[in-house]
Amino acid sequence: MPELPEVEIVVRNLNDIVIGKKLKATKLWRKDVRFPIPDKIIQKIVNGENKLLNIHRRAKFIVIEFADYLIISHLGMTGAWSTHKGQLSQYTPKKHDHLALGFEDGKDKELWLIYNDPRRFGFVHAIRKQDLATYFANYGFEPLEMNDQQIEELYQQAKKSKSPLKTFIMNQKNIVGVGNIYACEALFLAELSPFKIASKVKKESFLKLVQAIKKNLKQAISKGGSSIKNYRNVNEEEGSFQKSHLVYGKEKTKCTRCKTGIIVRKVQAGRSTFFCNACQR
Ligand SMILES: [Zn+2]
Repeated sequence: MPELPEVEIVVRNLNDIVIGKKLKATKLWRKDVRFPIPDKIIQKIVNGENKLLNIHRRAKFIVIEFADYLIISHLGMTGAWSTHKGQLSQYTPKKHDHLALGFEDGKDKELWLIYNDPRRFGFVHAIRKQDLATYFANYGFEPLEMNDQQIEELYQQAKKSKSPLKTFIMNQKNIVGVGNIYACEALFLAELSPFKIASKVKKESFLKLVQAIKKNLKQAISKGGSSIKNYRNVNEEEGSFQKSHLVYGKEKTKCTRCKTGIIVRKVQAGRSTFFCNACQR
């Protein structure tokens, strides 16, 4: 499943390719993925202020910005955007291609962004720009951009929380985009047990954890993300961060830090948690 780093990479790839181009056409091979595709609004964009201004990420959503509307894409489990240069009639649709957005690419040329999603847990929404804050009202801080004041606020939330630390940092209402892999890895880096109750964490350790989350996500982005199942970037390249995992998927191996503990896998809140049984407290 694409997590924050993978989505961030897709956003950067897409920005390089389509920023400033005009949305001229759409093609729907299928009317719905997880939810119906908002074809009518997309048509309004095509017929109105159709220049793509920017693409950014909020949590694990890809936000494609036009003057009046935003197209919001979530990749779910298996969603991916790829590109086709040239006319769509020259493109052979792949199995599970659902939607294509056609942009003007210089004079008389076309560039298509194609959304493919075998399992269809992903979705595409379109909203008016002024509804952006409401749309993301239930999402917490962005880990890569947190300032000191936000970190303090997050710590105050943790002090009131009876959740285990891993559950706390994976709760999107607190902090967004810390998926299972990155939660395990960051807790390991901060030498904190995933099972420790959030309110019991000392401030110094909490700050270390926030720094570990940031560091881990940034490192993952620089390595092209983690390709665990079928993640590919827009250019269909795999990431390599999975090779740098220290605990995730490393059960029964010796801890690389303390050299005495063993990495253990336990199911926690329905997800696999990997941790060192000696140095994470
Ligand atoms: Zn250890």
